[in-house]
Amino acid sequence: MRSPRLIWLVFPSFLLVTIASVAVVSFYAARTMKGFFYTRTEAELIDRAKLAAVKLKDLLSAGDAAQLDALCKLLGRESHMRLTIVGPDGGVLGDSEESPTAMENHLGRPEITAAANNPVNVGASRRYSDTVKAELFYAAVAIREGERLLGFVRVALPTDTIDTETRGMLQRIGLFAALVGVAAAAVSLWLSHRLIHPLEELRRGAERFSRGDLAHRVRGGNTAEIAAVADSLNQMAAALDQRIGELVQQRNEGQAVLSSMVEGVIAVDSHQRVISMNHACARLLGTDAARAAGRQLQEVVRNPDLQQLVSGVLVGQKAIAQEIMLHHQGERQIEAHASVLRDAADREIGVLLVLHDVTRLRKLENMRRDFVANVSHELRTPITSIKGFVETLLDGAVEDPNDAKRFLHIVAAQTDRLEAIIEDLLLLSRVEEEHEHAEPTLETGQIQAVIQAAISVCQLKAEEKQVRLEAQCDPSLHALINPTLLEQALVNLIDNAVKHSGEQQTVRVEAELMPDELQIRVCDNGCGIPREHLSRIFERFYRVDKARSRSLGGTGLGLAIVKHIAQYHRGRATVESTLGKGSTFCLHLPRPEPASD
Ligand code: ADP
Repeated sequence: MRSPRLIWLVFPSFLLVTIASVAVVSFYAARTMKGFFYTRTEAELIDRAKLAAVKLKDLLSAGDAAQLDALCKLLGRESHMRLTIVGPDGGVLGDSEESPTAMENHLGRPEITAAANNPVNVGASRRYSDTVKAELFYAAVAIREGERLLGFVRVALPTDTIDTETRGMLQRIGLFAALVGVAAAAVSLWLSHRLIHPLEELRRGAERFSRGDLAHRVRGGNTAEIAAVADSLNQMAAALDQRIGELVQQRNEGQAVLSSMVEGVIAVDSHQRVISMNHACARLLGTDAARAAGRQLQEVVRNPDLQQLVSGVLVGQKAIAQEIMLHHQGERQIEAHASVLRDAADREIGVLLVLHDVTRLRKLENMRRDFVANVSHELRTPITSIKGFVETLLDGAVEDPNDAKRFLHIVAAQTDRLEAIIEDLLLLSRVEEEHEHAEPTLETGQIQAVIQAAISVCQLKAEEKQVRLEAQCDPSLHALINPTLLEQALVNLIDNAVKHSGEQQTVRVEAELMPDELQIRVCDNGCGIPREHLSRIFERFYRVDKARSRSLGGTGLGLAIVKHIAQYHRGRATVESTLGKGSTFCLHLPRPEPASD
C-alpha cells in the first residue's frame, strides 16, 4: 500500500489542533461572556430596583396603592423594564404591565423569597413568566422602615435582550474564530511546507544517490537536525563513491590481468553455469566471453572430458589436472587445471578452470621423439653394416685379401656415411641453436662469390656425372649474408640437383633481385618430385625414395639444413617440381638495403 504524503499527515493535524483550540477558546469566551452579561444585568437590575425603592418607599409607607401603580407604569415605560411592587404579604400593589388586582400573590416568587430572607434585602432569579409569556430576569429589593417590612420592589427584564446582545457578541467571536482558523490554516500549510520541503530535498538527493549520481550533494536545509541528516547522507555518498571507485579499479586491474593471461581462465558455479571467462579462454573454446556468461558450460562447449573434470572437482572438492582435447579450430591439446572456487568468506561456490594450450609443446615433444628415433635409425643402418662386415672379417674373411679389401672398402664407406650424418646433425643443431638463441651474424657479401664457391665444391661430382653447372648472377649483387652458411645451403641444393639429374644435363644456379626479395634458385631437369611429397620435403630425414637416397649417399638432412639456413637469413626455402621434368629450389632472402652514400 502506498504511504500517504507527509504533508497530508502534518497539515490536517496542525489544522485540527488550531481549529479545536479556536473552537474551545471561542466556546469558553462565549460562556464567560454570557455569564458576565448575566451577572452584570443582575447587578444592574438590583441597582435599578434599589433606585426605584428609594422613589417608592414613601408611597409604600403611605399605602397609596393607586399612586403606586400609576408610578410603576410610568417608571416601567420610561426605563423599558417591568416594575412590580409587592406588599409584605405578597399581594401585588402595582405593576408596569398588568393590573395588580389581576395578579396572584407573589410571596412565593424566588427573588421575593430571597430578598425577604437576604440580610442585604436583595434577591434575583431567572425564569419563565406566565404573566408576560417570556423568560425574564428578576431582581427584587425588600423595602424596610426600620425593622418593619414595607414591601418589595421588583424589576424584570426579558432575557432575550441579553440573549440578543450575547448572540451578537458570539457571532462576532465566531467570525473572528473563523478568520483565525483560516489564518491558522494558511500558517499551518506554510509551516508544513517549510518543514517538509527540506525532507523532500533529502528524498530527491537520496534518489539521485540510488541512481548512482554519487557526485551530487544534498543541501543542508534550515534546521540543525535536517542539516545533520544531509551531512550524513553526503558523507555516506562520498564514502560510497570512493569505495566504488576503489572496487572498480580493483575489478579493472583483475580483468586486465585475466585478459592479458595467455592461459584460458573460466569460473563456473556449483550448477556448472559460467560465471566469467577471459578472452584467451573464449578464443580456445571458440565462443564469446560476454555471451557465455550465465549459460551452462555444456552449452558453451560440448566436451565430455571438461564436464567430467568440473563434476569431479565439485564432487571431490579437490584440485584436478588433466589433459583434454578440444576440437575447435582443429585438434588442440589442452592442459586443464581445475580447482575449487571460493568466495571472500571461503565458501565453495564453484570451480575455477585454467586451460593451457600445449598443442605446440606436445608437437615439439613428438618431433623431438621422432627425431631421436630417426637419428637412431639412421645411425643403426651403417653401424649394423660395419659390425656385420667386421664380424665377417674376424670370422676368417680377413685371410682372403680380395674379400678383406672389398669388405674394408664397404666399412670405410659406411664410416663416411656415419660421419656425414653426424656432420649434418651437428651443422643443423648449430644453425638452429644460433637462430634460436643469438642474433644471426650477417655481413654484406657478394652473392656471385658464394655461388661460385658452392659450384667449385660440387664441380668434381658434377664432372663425374657429366653434369654441367651454370651460374647466372650480377656481380654487383650484394646482400646481408652469412657466406659460410649460405654456401653450405647452395652446396646441398646443387649436390641434390646433380644427384637427381641425368647424365649430360645442366644444373643452373641463378640469383635475381625481385621487387621485394632476393631469390637464389637452383634449377635442374632431373627426375622431379611427386606432388604429394612437396609439402614435407624440408622435414628432417624425409626422403622420397629412401633406398635411392641412401644409395646416393644422402643423409635425409640436406633440405632441413637448407630450410634452417634460409630462416637464419630471415628468409625461407621453397620448391617447385614437375615429375620427370625437373625441380627448382629457391632461397627467398630479404632484399638488400640500397647502399647509403
Ligand atoms: P638426401 O640426403 O636424401 O638428399 P635431402 O634432405 O637433401 O636428403 O633431400 C630429401 C629428399 O628430397 C631426397 O631424398 C630426394 O628424394 C628429394 N630431392 C631433393 N632434391 C631433389 C632434386 N633436386 N630432385 C629430385 N628430388 C630431390
